Amino acid sequence: MSLNVRELLEKKCCNNIAACTDEQLYYGLLGIVKDLAKEKESDKGKKKIYYISAEFLIGKLLSNNLINLGIYDEVAKMLAQYGKDINLIEQVEPEPSLGNGGLGRLAACFLDSMATLGLNGDGIGLNYHFGLFLQTFENHLQKENKNPWIEKESWLTKTDVTYPIQFGGFTVQSRMYDLDVTGFDNRTNKLHLFDIESVDESLVQSGIDFNKEDICKNLTLFLYPDDSDDAGRLLRVYQQYFMVSNAARLILEECEQKGSTLYDLPDYAAIQINDTHPSMVIPELIRLLMERGIRMEKAIDIVSKTCAYTNHTILAEALEKWPMDYLNKVVPQIMPIIRELDTIVKEKFDDKSVAIIDDADRVHMAHMDIHYGYSVNGVAYLHTEILKKNELNNFYKIYPEKFNNKTNGITFRRWLMHCNKGLSHYLDEVIGTGWHKDADELEKLLKFADDDKVLNKLLEIKKENKRALAAYLKATQGVEIDENSIFDIQIKRLHEYKRQQMNALYVIHKYLEIKKGKKVTTPITVIFGAKAAPAYVIAKDIIHLILCLQEIINKDPEVSPYLKVVMVENYNVTKAEKLIPACDISEQISLASKEASGTGNMKFMLNGAVTLGTMDGANVEIADLVGEDNIYIFGESSDTVIEHYEKADYVSKEYYEKDEDIKEAVDFIISDEMLKVGQKENLERLYKELLNKDWFMTLLDYKDYAAKKEEIYKDYENRSAWAKKMLVNTAKAGFFSSDRTIAEYDKDIWKL
Ligand SMILES: *Cc1c(COP(=O)(O)O)cnc(C)c1O
Repeated sequence: MSLNVRELLEKKCCNNIAACTDEQLYYGLLGIVKDLAKEKESDKGKKKIYYISAEFLIGKLLSNNLINLGIYDEVAKMLAQYGKDINLIEQVEPEPSLGNGGLGRLAACFLDSMATLGLNGDGIGLNYHFGLFLQTFENHLQKENKNPWIEKESWLTKTDVTYPIQFGGFTVQSRMYDLDVTGFDNRTNKLHLFDIESVDESLVQSGIDFNKEDICKNLTLFLYPDDSDDAGRLLRVYQQYFMVSNAARLILEECEQKGSTLYDLPDYAAIQINDTHPSMVIPELIRLLMERGIRMEKAIDIVSKTCAYTNHTILAEALEKWPMDYLNKVVPQIMPIIRELDTIVKEKFDDKSVAIIDDADRVHMAHMDIHYGYSVNGVAYLHTEILKKNELNNFYKIYPEKFNNKTNGITFRRWLMHCNKGLSHYLDEVIGTGWHKDADELEKLLKFADDDKVLNKLLEIKKENKRALAAYLKATQGVEIDENSIFDIQIKRLHEYKRQQMNALYVIHKYLEIKKGKKVTTPITVIFGAKAAPAYVIAKDIIHLILCLQEIINKDPEVSPYLKVVMVENYNVTKAEKLIPACDISEQISLASKEASGTGNMKFMLNGAVTLGTMDGANVEIADLVGEDNIYIFGESSDTVIEHYEKADYVSKEYYEKDEDIKEAVDFIISDEMLKVGQKENLERLYKELLNKDWFMTLLDYKDYAAKKEEIYKDYENRSAWAKKMLVNTAKAGFFSSDRTIAEYDKDIWKL
């Protein structure tokens, strides 16, 4: 194979690979990989799963495609013979940021696993030109910039598929672009990304501001544009309908081509609705079936047997409810259908809480999905239980048979084989390569839990990854960190429920302690990475707090030898791939009941980090798998937290007033020292928020968190005991392979 790639590459590089630039080699490889992927396309399988999602956080594709095609090592070696470093070539590739965080990354892992399991399954989404914003820091504040990723030559392939998509008062012409999704040693599926022909990138001048009303030009510029005003929210509805109308047409066309009468649509298609963003696919499909001569009642029945819904959150503010006014303006053609769907529900159930249209004339997208889909799944054991017992209990009572759990997973190709070559190759040596296809085989590692040679090697690999991260941060952000320190990492979207602020309070506490003369045995490096939604004020204030702490602590000669803080700029998949293999302590500290699953927690565990976390999301399953010796759990239980909300009896100020450490740390936010480097407005707002509201109960869990931190730092000192924890975490991570998750989706929901 490599000979093949060498010849092909030489053809593209005038027979002189050594003289080529990394750019030339990247584009050369891109073309070759696209051709190789094409050879693996398949039309096997009568029924297809269509995974519709507003986000696909796919990350860079070159290395992953080479791995999945089985030629990464050979190509890397071949390039090295010409003095070329594949890691540098890979740097040429821009990262498409077509997702916010976990939900979009999950969709990307799922596509990889569908192709790897040989399932006939495609993704459908939107071709955002600037994706999610690119984050920079200025004056210790987040700044948003556009994030272009589409180049003349890219992984995208323009197709002939185009549809007129009608909105209230005007029509846009769509165009489908395809990305190859090549499975690991298996078939190539597609990610279909829809765009408009009339998109105009020049609408965006500086930052991420643009004319939100010019839909014919702006529709596919950004992922989830700022929805803090009406125009932003309307644009979101335009995007959602555009996505699902294209999807519905494509699905019906493909099924008809395969011989479907459309009455038998469920035999040809399963549609997974990834969160509520694609929910309008239900009324749109019904509308299109009726256009093709099918009676409404029958059309509803067909669609209800085709669509399945995944719930990703119980945060009330994240459950979409669109005002009828918006929908009447944007998509008047599907309103009669939505009204009819609501009428049927109201006739059947005398319970307002399950209505689709509420008394305030808002359409509850999740309710439509549950009534008119055949499956409702949560994304981790605890999350699904909370849906059944609390959040969606009234629906569960009606449709117990629809509810099921599918604990999230991650693709081990990207999150181990690609991002941690040292560990991956060593595992091959110790337990063989069976785990590449059967992740459960990682358990073979347990036999070596007391083998000093293996444990020392794991420590050595971790050390090497830490060294590489330190060099990367020095090169990219100019920060210097000590590779011998403990790498304590929290990287994820910035949200109060994820509680970066709790971590920051502990950093303050530690800083003050060291100032007072209490030294630490091993130095600590606390690393954060997080983007805040542009309109999420408190989240941006928390970033400001962390950046100010970074400035103060790292510049303090008394403290910085023992404690450092790093806020990584523009946290994305590429950065995650560098941070995760280097992590010692994985911070998964959300308020119990609030994190549906988390997938960052799984990536860290797989790479031998030890979790410090609450009993929330998939942490519950991690704890169950690794046992209490190999995880650090703290904080109130989900039941207790839910009770606090029901009784509304949590008062943060009480915790502040009764505890000296808490008071000292919170007060520091508005101390003279902080105000010297930070903005008074931001810091005071955050201080007041913590004191007077603290909706996600930071202070409730703070003391328990701080105590666990002390314990975990102390335990880190015993290197061989720690290495054993690392080993157990990697060995037990097999359950979190997205191959397992997708096999379950197929067995229970899609039945391909
Ligand atoms: C995995 C991942 C996430 C999700 O992280 P959580 O800790 O589960 O919230 C977000 N962003 C990126 C870039 C990721 O790779």
